[in-house]
Amino acid sequence: MSADTSIFESINSIKKEIETFSITDAESLEQFRIKFIGSKGIIKNLFSQIKDISPERKKEFGQTVNAVKQLAEQKFADKQSVNSSNSKKQKTDIDLSAPGVPTALGSRHPLSIVRNQIIDIFGRIGFTISEGPEIESDWNNFSALNMPEHHPARDMQDTFFVQQDPDMVLRTHTSSVQVRVMENTKPPIRTISPGRVFRNETISARAHCIFHQVEGLYIDEKVSFADLKQTLYYFVQELFGNDIEIRFRPSYFPFTEPSAEMDITCLICKGEGCPVCKKTGWVEILGCGMVDPNVLDNCKIDSSKYTGFAFGMGIERITMLKYRIDDIRLFFENDVRFLRQFSSAI
Ligand SMILES: [Zn+2]
Repeated sequence: MSADTSIFESINSIKKEIETFSITDAESLEQFRIKFIGSKGIIKNLFSQIKDISPERKKEFGQTVNAVKQLAEQKFADKQSVNSSNSKKQKTDIDLSAPGVPTALGSRHPLSIVRNQIIDIFGRIGFTISEGPEIESDWNNFSALNMPEHHPARDMQDTFFVQQDPDMVLRTHTSSVQVRVMENTKPPIRTISPGRVFRNETISARAHCIFHQVEGLYIDEKVSFADLKQTLYYFVQELFGNDIEIRFRPSYFPFTEPSAEMDITCLICKGEGCPVCKKTGWVEILGCGMVDPNVLDNCKIDSSKYTGFAFGMGIERITMLKYRIDDIRLFFENDVRFLRQFSSAI
């Protein structure tokens, strides 16, 4: 085999290599350029080998190498234009009329949803909203409500004392707000007090040291237990539905006389009896009663002229019943997987 033949054969293999070289992006295009048509590329090198070719084949060699050079330059030019039109296409692919990426909206906390519903329901029958501080005097939280020092009912509402003498506590109920309202308002009074309350409880699935209440108070002349019953009956039907029944069980609270616990038809079994209602068909939802005359007198309201009723409910308890949540701790853990379930319930 002559030297010429071997050079011609290597040109053929270079030609094949050019044809099969895969150019997919700007980077491989540049690699192609450097390898074949760059100043130190294969084709430049081929031209320099013309001196080794026998005179009679020099012309043929020149034509062959030129053809390979053209092939490489053509492929480069073709791919370059495809590549640049691709990048241009990417730029012009932006659809300026497309809607923007939506910002993710949070959801209301389930306790806020239910609190707002409760406020709305009582607002429709004329109850105003009263608010007060979370740190309260002993008088407003206990003594004015017929719970003097050493009264055993204080044990049920063990709380956190933040100061002694005079005693200041984290309020155990929003009845303290009602004391403030009664001391500063002339009847008729018709108000609800939603808010956060605190008790020294061991945290479990059913109890927490923080929870929320809505307490209600109605004071006027000739207010009777019938008014209390009808108001609360209206409330549970608005909140849970028209097929809900209520019943009252006698109970004891220091600040009401008589006092009662109110049950509603079990939402799960509709009164048939199930494990949630312990087969009774009823679930407890709130405490209520006629305001004790002593409490009225403590708050400078004439108990010989005025009567009133009061009720109090835990927003957590209502929310757990309404949404069938079985662990109170979920409300305070801020687990977004739990909270997201209420995103459409705003
Ligand atoms: Zn049941």
